[in-house]
Amino acid sequence: MIVETAAATESAARTGDPILRLKAVDKFFGDFAAVDRVSLDIHEGEFFTIVGPSGSGKTTMVRMLVGMDKPTNGDILLRGERINDVPANRRPTCMVFQSLALFPHRTVGQNIEFPLKIRGVAPAERKARALELMAQLRLPDSYYGKGVLQCSGGERQRVALARALAFDPDILFFDEPLSALDYKLRKLLEKELKDIHRETGKTFVYITHSLEEAMVMSDRIGVMNKGRFVQIGTPNQIYANPVNRFVSEFMGEVNVVDVERGAAGSLVDRLTGAAYQSPAGDSEFREAALVVRPEDIRFLDHPDDAADNKLTGTIYNDYLLGSRVQYQVRVGSSQIFLVEKLREQQLDVARGATVTIAWDTRQSMLFATPSFTQSMVAR
Ligand code: ADP
Ligand code: MG
Repeated sequence: MIVETAAATESAARTGDPILRLKAVDKFFGDFAAVDRVSLDIHEGEFFTIVGPSGSGKTTMVRMLVGMDKPTNGDILLRGERINDVPANRRPTCMVFQSLALFPHRTVGQNIEFPLKIRGVAPAERKARALELMAQLRLPDSYYGKGVLQCSGGERQRVALARALAFDPDILFFDEPLSALDYKLRKLLEKELKDIHRETGKTFVYITHSLEEAMVMSDRIGVMNKGRFVQIGTPNQIYANPVNRFVSEFMGEVNVVDVERGAAGSLVDRLTGAAYQSPAGDSEFREAALVVRPEDIRFLDHPDDAADNKLTGTIYNDYLLGSRVQYQVRVGSSQIFLVEKLREQQLDVARGATVTIAWDTRQSMLFATPSFTQSMVAR
């Protein structure tokens, strides 16, 4: 796969001292650790995304990073200086919230100029800078005098970002700013945000519960679960080599089959008894999850065609997902496999038709079930 290139990208991003460093940072609420001994370096100019399910500790983490909260233990360093006790308004960082926190009864211009006004910048200069930022964010000049309540959701998003940039912060933090928007607008703004990041060269730290969103924008992603980072890497590394079942399932819909060790290098499906080849050779484990992505499963033209792993089933249902089609293939009485094809590779078969599905062993992943062994079974 693409592992080597991804590793090279990652090491290239790691030159120089980090702009932000976390050393064993905890945040306790009572005896509950919402953030649990996190250590992390974020590099100058990086687009770093923290992704995790609801309740995993993302907001708690970012509140400490911007200075809205203090860590219970550990240190936060900005360019080598400890900033644990520096309040938000005295840090060279700025936060964009999901709620945007715009002044509702002010104009676009007044909102964007606010940070400049509190710094005593003269009106003409403020306006010039506001118009410059509006142009950068694809807001027409005519919006300068428009009330923010008269703007659409996407336009308000741009106003909030322009205002954040007007602070000229060293680091911009974003806490799920796009999650309330509809799909199409979100997709557009994800790309715009990545463009703005490139144009400004600032360090962006972005929070989202969507790994798909993180994949689009980020240089690196930290996947959080229960207050800890379970994996930190480039989008390619996380896609190609998820470290455990949690990360692989968080990526989107995947096929997960519970298996146990069979005879030399083989796996036995715990539900159906079917045999599969193990992508991890003859490693030590008793039970594991075999993960195969829907796009890595193919339909065989003939049931006798050679394949590492194959199963015969029936088409249970199909769904059009824009450019792709997803099939549910029912194997036996109780197992469903998801198979995805590009729309032009759509099958000419009806629901209920018999099909043979297959996958290459090297495209599958195996994760040992933790109660039996803590370690991941290497591919
Ligand atoms: P996320 O942003 O990933 O959804 P949060 O950081 O908001 O998660 O919350 C992480 C955990 O910490 C949750 O279980 C939440 O209930 C808990 N938590 C967050 N803030 C507080 C607080 N002020 N007091 C008590 N528990 C909190
Ligand atoms: Mg949150």
